Amino acid sequence: MLARVVLPREIAAALPRLAAAALPREACALMTGRRSGDALVITGLAPSSNLAAAGDAFEIDTALHLRLQRRTRAVAAIWHSHPSGAAIPSARDAAGAWDQGLAWIITARGETTAWLPLGEGRGFAPLPLVPA
Ligand SMILES: [Zn+2]
Repeated sequence: MLARVVLPREIAAALPRLAAAALPREACALMTGRRSGDALVITGLAPSSNLAAAGDAFEIDTALHLRLQRRTRAVAAIWHSHPSGAAIPSARDAAGAWDQGLAWIITARGETTAWLPLGEGRGFAPLPLVPA
């Protein structure tokens, strides 16, 4: 079971900038990574267009997801920002987190957190985020 997420500093530093660039909307991206024991080590960041119609939501570009997965076989996490509110999953996030194979990373007010989906409608468990 996944116990922590290791986030390289250069990717961690890019997240608040992507979040700011998308304002007032949510920013979103996919991350690639590899497992190392009980850790998920993030290795790449692929910013996505936010295809959601609503202002307080995000939707990753499915074409980007498929392309990235075909090329890397390593899509490991979904990242998005909360323009207002805290870096914790919203009720909408919980409803959309059906894939237990992907970690969720959230940035709000300069703070970034990691979460493990527990399955359809069951919310998230927090994951320690370790800088690398
Ligand atoms: Zn959210």
